[in-house]
Amino acid sequence: MVSKPASNYVWIKKEISLYAAHTARKTTLDRIIWYFDSDCSRHMTGNAKNLTNIHREDGGQVTFGDGAKGAMIGRGVLKVDGLPKLKNVLLVNGLKANLLSISQLCDQNLYVRFTKEGCIVEDDEKQSMLEGTRTGDNCYKLNVSQHCKYTGETTPQLWHKHLGHLHSRGMHKLLKYGVVRGLPAISSKVEAVCKGCMAGKQHRTPHSAWKIITTQQPLELLHIDLMGPVQIESIAGKRNVLVCVDDFSRFTWVEFIREKSDTYKVFASLCRRFMTEKNVSIGKIVRIRSDHGREFENNEFAQFCDKKGISHESSAPKTPQQNGVVERKNRALQEMARAMTNSKNLPHKLWAEAVNTACYISNNVHLRYMTHKTPYELWKRRKPKVHYFREFGSTCYVLREREQLGKFDSRSIEGIFIGYSRNSHAYRVYFRNNNTIIKTVNVEIAD
Ligand SMILES: [Zn+2]
Repeated sequence: MVSKPASNYVWIKKEISLYAAHTARKTTLDRIIWYFDSDCSRHMTGNAKNLTNIHREDGGQVTFGDGAKGAMIGRGVLKVDGLPKLKNVLLVNGLKANLLSISQLCDQNLYVRFTKEGCIVEDDEKQSMLEGTRTGDNCYKLNVSQHCKYTGETTPQLWHKHLGHLHSRGMHKLLKYGVVRGLPAISSKVEAVCKGCMAGKQHRTPHSAWKIITTQQPLELLHIDLMGPVQIESIAGKRNVLVCVDDFSRFTWVEFIREKSDTYKVFASLCRRFMTEKNVSIGKIVRIRSDHGREFENNEFAQFCDKKGISHESSAPKTPQQNGVVERKNRALQEMARAMTNSKNLPHKLWAEAVNTACYISNNVHLRYMTHKTPYELWKRRKPKVHYFREFGSTCYVLREREQLGKFDSRSIEGIFIGYSRNSHAYRVYFRNNNTIIKTVNVEIAD
């Protein structure tokens, strides 16, 4: 009978608080072979040819299993065909294996699941990021795939832009209270100078003078306002925006309108949407509050409210702060949209797309004042997911249908990422050449 080796793992202690271990028996210089390792605290390799953009560092000593010492000499980006472009991989002199750190993956809010056959690394949407196969001697080896999109890049500045130029304080709250899903464990510190933020003039939105929440549930009170007319027509030919804020959750809707006289029709259709979404009768809407704008004070509007049993409050002309909730929201959305558009030098006719995306992001990441919850959670009773958020205005590549392509035609068309579909998991893409917008899931966004 052949006895098994006592252990495949040897603990290695290194100075400056880095503890590493590697699968001693699995020493290999093959660049494509990487092992998942639960004991090393960082991804690491001994072969400089595996990495690109290496920043040389004097990082102290690493002691290997056989007692030999090696120096941590730098860190870089993994660059081997078929392997993910992992960032922040340590280069350790003399290390004879390539190791993927389980803890580094977990720090990025990924889930690593080991089974009898192999292992899988998933995000919280259960999308596979990396996969491994169990070898005959009980190690887990990373599978080579040309389609791996995982990079492990999680910089605060990137997320600042994904989340509509969210300020450090907002980012800090999201991380501290865990109110969204899919946000990696990053620092909440964002760069002090950001081109978009300078243009957007984002500042702390002043809080309401009201220090109490006066509503108990969604749809009890809706604040509505009309923003516009905007000088430049949107792609869809709209100039005005109806903004509607639910008082309890602060969930917000923006509807784009060509003529102010269409306000009533758009509001009525919004009410029908609430009815479907909440599965309630329209009479559930108790009160609406607006200013004295003509678009809200006309016969059609009054008849609609009467018929549906909605009480319509108008703020007195000299005290517009009574309607302050929606006005503050208006201002915040405009600032976000300005930051997002200017950060990417986008044409101003994309303003409606920017406002729409700002509203979408805001519902997901701006905490309702006096609570530790997002409007999304208060309205939908579940935490929002943000893993799929991308930077507004980024260049993107839409894959073309294969059957329409000639041998030498490009496989993709370049477009601009302009937000999220309201009713599906698709992204919205704008094409400059023919001034059109499409929704698609077959897109790579280069942000
Ligand atoms: Zn910014």
